[in-house]
Amino acid sequence: MERTLSIIKPDGVRRGLIGEVIKRLEAEEIKIVAMKMIHMTKKEAQGFYAVHKEKPFFDSLTDFMTSGPIVVMVLQGEDVIARYRKLMGATNYKEAEPGTIRADFATDIEKNVVHGSDAPETAAIEIKYFFSELEIVG
Ligand code: UDP
Ligand code: MG
Repeated sequence: MERTLSIIKPDGVRRGLIGEVIKRLEAEEIKIVAMKMIHMTKKEAQGFYAVHKEKPFFDSLTDFMTSGPIVVMVLQGEDVIARYRKLMGATNYKEAEPGTIRADFATDIEKNVVHGSDAPETAAIEIKYFFSELEIVG
């Protein structure tokens, strides 16, 4: 049993895609065990994306991630990290498989609608960044 952190990014929330993303999770029978809407500060976004702090896109990415509210969720299930990454599609929407969230809705390599943890270690860190154990059901 795994857990992963999912984020509907500011572009997804702005464009009315919360329901669309959740619909796709539920269609795959991926269980949501925590969920809330927040609006990150620049500092919070920099902390969340600390692994990318040396990247050229870091400043723009953290500006984007603070440009509006986001929906953060914890997903739980067998192999959920890989299953959710598959639903999301590749980081670059131009390379994402047809039918994935990013292929269908991303408008830019940065504005790609969703985030998902990439490994059990990062999932654990990312979930803790937003949720206490008390906020997670199941
Ligand atoms: N990103 C970007 N330019 C790039 C690569 C990534 O703006 O060249 C953004 C994009 O929003 C991506 C996020 O930075 O989702 C984190 O990058 P990562 O490589 O971890 O991609 P992900 O795990 O989200 O697929
Ligand atoms: Mg990543």
